[in-house]
Amino acid sequence: MCFDHVDFDAHEHVAIAHDDVSGLKAIIAVHDTRLGPALGGTRFWRYAETEAAIGDALRLSRGMTYKNAVVGLNWGGGKAVIVGDPKHDKSPALWRAYGAALNRLGGLFVTGEDVGMTVADVDAVRRHSSYIVGSSSGAAASGDPSPFTAEGVFLGLVATVKAAHGVADLTGIRVGVLGLGSVGWKLCEKLDRAGARLIVADIDADKAQRAADAFGADVATPDALIGCEMEVFSPCALGGTLDERAVENLKAFAVAGAANNQLATPNIDQALAQRGILYAPDYVVNAGGVVNVAAEAEGDYDADTVMISVRRIPETLTAIFNRAKATGRPTSEVADAIARERLEAAQQAA
Ligand code: NAD
Repeated sequence: MCFDHVDFDAHEHVAIAHDDVSGLKAIIAVHDTRLGPALGGTRFWRYAETEAAIGDALRLSRGMTYKNAVVGLNWGGGKAVIVGDPKHDKSPALWRAYGAALNRLGGLFVTGEDVGMTVADVDAVRRHSSYIVGSSSGAAASGDPSPFTAEGVFLGLVATVKAAHGVADLTGIRVGVLGLGSVGWKLCEKLDRAGARLIVADIDADKAQRAADAFGADVATPDALIGCEMEVFSPCALGGTLDERAVENLKAFAVAGAANNQLATPNIDQALAQRGILYAPDYVVNAGGVVNVAAEAEGDYDADTVMISVRRIPETLTAIFNRAKATGRPTSEVADAIARERLEAAQQAA
């Protein structure tokens, strides 16, 4: 079934981990290890069907290959999904079983947190496996990656506004933020400090209300946000937000956000470009988190050094925007091409 899956892209290894006692159901996808062992988060989510979980693992692991390559990390791409309700299905037995599943792969895949996982969950798995990073304690612990991701998204958003609008100044710029979780909220704090005006939405109405109170943000429903007046759209919830209808309704001149896999289908980048909307490729903008956990995985963690690397994200983005402009190709196609060039160079050097 995997080989025929629409999201299968020559993945090197896809493992199913199951444990009857704890109820663990996980899919671990290793996409490409030409640059090194696979590095990518673990998502804990209530998938309605196994098919959707497999699709997510395949798509997200491929995204990690490109992300790690384009930002210059010597790590391959992988991702795991645990099928379950993050509010009710976590248990010590499940973490033990997941740690054992990671150990069986023997370091082919190193993971960290993603949607539905917390630093406490990482700590719990870490008791059983050293192939998980982002823990809260220990000499090399990198902790919560979201501050680094949010910094990268913020700086990437500023660089995108500069490329689209000519000025790197957010004063009065209206930004629509979809998803007010770990990254979305911290991004709002930075945008607010930079003088941007906010319009926000989250399926959790309390979070949206808190943003209204904290930042004077306008609130929309998640479905309505995309059609609201804004200059920049920042998807920070789950993937697939930008489909044809969304792009038709979008009033923004730029898209820059944290969510992985923002484009519902690959051709959407053309639709965005045709409408003159500058798209900052998701996996470049949101690379701050993986840069952070990669430093821990390499056993050489220093938060200041990580921040210096994260602050290079705008440089990488600007190179992508310039090449896209010079060649008339969509930005996500250019980002993929840059990543592929690095992967091929690594293969040739091997
Ligand atoms: P999170 O789980 O903390 O927050 C997600 C937020 O989105 C929650 O507030 C949730 O209520 C909301 N949400 C979910 N579905 C929604 C919908 N349909 N409409 C509106 N709101 C919705 O996750 P996070 O860590 O903030 O990550 C956000 C996104 O950024 C994810 O796509 C994640 O993969 C990506 N990302 C995160 C990091 C990181 O460091 N945490 C790094 C890279 C990429």
